[in-house]
Amino acid sequence: MAAGILILGAGQAAAQLAISLRQGGYAGAIRMVGDEPYAPYQRPPLSKAFLKDKASIDTLLLRRESYWADHQVALELGAAAAAVDRGGKRVTLRDGRTFPYDTLVFATGTRARDLPLPGIKLDGVHSLRRIDDVKRLRPALDAARRVAIVGAGYIGLEVAAVLRQEDRAATVVEAEARVMKRVAGEEVSAFFDQLHRSRGVDIRLGARLAGIEGEGRAVGLALASGEKIAADVVLVATGARANDDLAMAAGLACEDGVVVDDVARAAPDVYAIGDCARFHSHRYGRRIRLECVQNAIDQAKAAAQAILGKPVPYDPVPWFWSDQYEIKLQITGLLDGYDACETVGVPDEARFSVEYRKAGKLIAVDAINDGRAHMLGRRRIAADLPERAAALPVS
Ligand SMILES: Cc1cc2nc3c(=O)[nH]c(=O)nc-3n(C[C@H](O)[C@H](O)[C@H](O)COP(=O)(O)OP(=O)(O)OC[C@H]3O[C@@H](n4cnc5c(N)ncnc54)[C@H](O)[C@@H]3O)c2cc1C
Repeated sequence: MAAGILILGAGQAAAQLAISLRQGGYAGAIRMVGDEPYAPYQRPPLSKAFLKDKASIDTLLLRRESYWADHQVALELGAAAAAVDRGGKRVTLRDGRTFPYDTLVFATGTRARDLPLPGIKLDGVHSLRRIDDVKRLRPALDAARRVAIVGAGYIGLEVAAVLRQEDRAATVVEAEARVMKRVAGEEVSAFFDQLHRSRGVDIRLGARLAGIEGEGRAVGLALASGEKIAADVVLVATGARANDDLAMAAGLACEDGVVVDDVARAAPDVYAIGDCARFHSHRYGRRIRLECVQNAIDQAKAAAQAILGKPVPYDPVPWFWSDQYEIKLQITGLLDGYDACETVGVPDEARFSVEYRKAGKLIAVDAINDGRAHMLGRRRIAADLPERAAALPVS
């Protein structure tokens, strides 16, 4: 009997791949190996509504648990892949089991970036990538008097917003000179900086962390400046790196992400999709690795098409969102290297967008509480329309 398709990881991209394969008529075996004990679930609410509302895990599931059995997708959960034998076309799990494959797909996502700092292993120091992290973090936050968040990226700021909505004290420490520097432009950073400060978040920019203080338990942060910040819970939210170790050990090219072509193929019969994959963007002229739901879904669809023998090149306009208080930020495109930007709308009314251009070409749009600007931005970047085309209908 044919071994079929073996997917390593059981997250957003893995789920979409299995769904698309079955929708596309693939009738062979599909097996997903996931090291978390949960059926495929969505991560974005972990730092937003799920953290805030203490909702049940069922609300996160991408499909009812019965969906997978109904569609003959075998789930091996709580099971980590430990080694890939590409010559023998089989994968060995940490528990010793081996599974053969005809086609192997890496959908292993990312993990929190290591922060080699004194005190990083103390009790009370958390990261936030998965359900089990929230299971530890939520009760710790409930019991905390002061919370320090290291990193003013979108996850750190979303958690700060949740904390302030619960009237808990939050300090955010960021090494860069502005918040969300990696993903948003200066005006948008300034907007969110002001928003958080106005809600009572203590934001420290350009602050270098020397270590986390405490004996056994964290009691606060020590900054390189000598300043101490008291905290009984520390959330480290300083970004992620690709889970590409297995692929690298199996001899595949990796650059913080498994290097794939424009149909997500890393080698004959081997694919990588979602957060763990790095691919060449013709639109942006370089290799990129994206960490967003859009990419997990669309690259999985591209891989499914290729596996089904109907390859369609994947060159997306990436998009992403973040919810902080009552503000929805929607980011489309990649803004790095922009040489001109223009604000449209009224920042003071918290409804505006910023358009970024490079050599006259529209490359990114950040939209604040403006879904229409976001949708039009996506379409204009995709269609290579530099000017604001007010007449474009949103379908
Ligand atoms: C807190 C948080 C908030 C987010 N908010 C947003 C948002 O607002 N908007 C947005 O677009 N994106 C957001 N993202 C990003 C989005 O969730 C990811 O881009 C998406 O989940 C990527 O899907 P994936 O399948 O590639 O990886 P994942 O969903 O991370 O799944 C990978 C899975 O593989 C497992 N795995 C790794 N190694 C192995 C192994 N050796 N064996 C078996 N299993 C393994 C991992 O444990 C994980 O379960 C957020 C992410 C986080 C963590």
